[in-house]
Amino acid sequence: MSLDGTYDDGNIFAKILRGEAPAVRVFEDSHVLSFMDVFPQAKGHCLVIPKHSTARNFLEEAPEVIGPLMLAVQRVARATRAALDPDGLMITTFNGAASGQTVYHLHVHIIPRWDGVPLGRHGGGMADMEELKALAAQIAAKVA
Ligand code: 5GP
Repeated sequence: MSLDGTYDDGNIFAKILRGEAPAVRVFEDSHVLSFMDVFPQAKGHCLVIPKHSTARNFLEEAPEVIGPLMLAVQRVARATRAALDPDGLMITTFNGAASGQTVYHLHVHIIPRWDGVPLGRHGGGMADMEELKALAAQIAAKVA
């Protein structure tokens, strides 16, 4: 699977959207769902995905989905800043295997960064669930 291909509704994010797989949720509205990345590259790493989409990546997505998605990304990023006080935040999408993409339902990463703290490995170790829930609650409380 890379830049070109067919959307597979068996992907893990489609399962999360259908309630078939668990997720530590941060925020949702009628357009998007935001949840904690279970293999975080930094404390507070979360994802925002469109709910009504079969786009595998950012390039494929319909303009009318991009608008509400990116507005939600900004909302969650602002909440993350308010909750965790990072020195910076990475907001990224990986498009195609060559870029590092591993899940083929469009998603935007929000990754808080602190000076002097190296970025964790993409697809590294699994987070502690209780810690993820606490972080999600902290971020959710700051969504304005
Ligand atoms: P990609 O590599 O496609 O840009 O990002 C996929 C992200 O999804 C990775 O950061 C990975 O840690 C995360 N991820 C993979 N499987 C799961 C899962 O089952 N639950 C959650 N919450 N995140 C996942």
